[in-house]
Amino acid sequence: MFTLNDNFCILPESYLFSEVARRINAFKESHPEADVIRMGIGDVTLPLCPAAIEAMHKAVDDESSSATFHGYGPEQGYPFLRDAISLHDYKNRGIDIDPSEIFVSDGAKSDTGNFGDILSADNTVAVTDPVYPVYVDTNVMAGRAGILADGAWSKIQYLPVTAANGFIPQLPEGDVPDIIYLCYPNNPTGTTLTRDQLKVWVDFALEHGSLILFDSAYESFIREEDVPHSIYEIEGARKCAVEFRSFSKTAGFTGVRCGYTVVPKELKALDKEGKEVSLNHLWNRRQCTKFNGASYVSQRGAAAIFTPEGQRQVKEAVDYYLANAKVLREGLAEAGMEVFGGVNAPYVWIKAPGGMSSWEFFDLLLEKCNVAGTPGSGFGPAGEGYFRLTAFNTLENTIEAVRRIKAASF
Ligand code: PLP
Repeated sequence: MFTLNDNFCILPESYLFSEVARRINAFKESHPEADVIRMGIGDVTLPLCPAAIEAMHKAVDDESSSATFHGYGPEQGYPFLRDAISLHDYKNRGIDIDPSEIFVSDGAKSDTGNFGDILSADNTVAVTDPVYPVYVDTNVMAGRAGILADGAWSKIQYLPVTAANGFIPQLPEGDVPDIIYLCYPNNPTGTTLTRDQLKVWVDFALEHGSLILFDSAYESFIREEDVPHSIYEIEGARKCAVEFRSFSKTAGFTGVRCGYTVVPKELKALDKEGKEVSLNHLWNRRQCTKFNGASYVSQRGAAAIFTPEGQRQVKEAVDYYLANAKVLREGLAEAGMEVFGGVNAPYVWIKAPGGMSSWEFFDLLLEKCNVAGTPGSGFGPAGEGYFRLTAFNTLENTIEAVRRIKAASF
């Protein structure tokens, strides 16, 4: 009989969001009158901006006549989008990224998850902890993680980011990881690194021959001057880093699907014979084999984000979420809580009061305030004792949630 890829079998069921939903539903059943405010939402809630809608309507019309019809597009993305990304997201910021280094995709989840395809299963991996679960789970699938014990995989190096280190990951002590995942602005903590703090990682990777997989899905939330918008702002990063971006949170494309990955031409790794191979070349080879391109309609929508009106419209939506994050941050601090993140990100990370565990606080917050968030422990061992609230609800609900939390005086 055929057999399975055991790496998939050792992966535990993803339990975080299903358990959150289960507890909320149970609470609603026993308290049918309760008006539960969901502050755990990781999805955008505002509609797409008019510029993207208009461009996508037009793109659909293009598909209706043989003169303008688009079938399979280039696997790497259409030149109109790759050129716009290169110009607006990089060259206008003084960063030299050529369109041929940009691979358009259906989003950052697939790309962060798939990039390991071209890397040896023997590589060692480090993640910051707590972490976006996709990095860990896809390395389990690839056989790089070892075995699971006490919520941690034996071969993955967890780099804790907590209040104790100011949410700045410390360089690994001992074994040097081959692959390092960094996500800034960070999900789930909502914190960022300054240019100098990110430079420490680039210098480390260059010195030791490590690869940084840099996820900047939340780049559009950056408002502070000293926070880099791209890892390529740091000298030498073209030789050691891949960058993942997404239109999901930037422009509400979570349902439309479009993102991109930057693989600079200088980035090389060794094959078994010790010969240098270009990662750009290999990623292109992988994409051409396994991916048939993001849809024409999505790419037209994404390109419209770079027009002056598109830029203004998406900034307005992100500003709305950031205003919610400010209400959360300031309100919860006034309620006496320890609050982190939420300045350049849609996530606010709080310390569960009174030494409670993440799940204890989840239950108490739901019971006392009818507010639901996400327990930090679901994002990794160092998330225990923390709690994530998101800025993706309405301003009215966000204000009401803060009012209830203040009134509950934890
Ligand atoms: N990377 C991070 C850190 C995320 O939080 C998310 C979505 O929540 C993604 C990637 C997924 O982005 P996409 O919608 O482009 O697949």
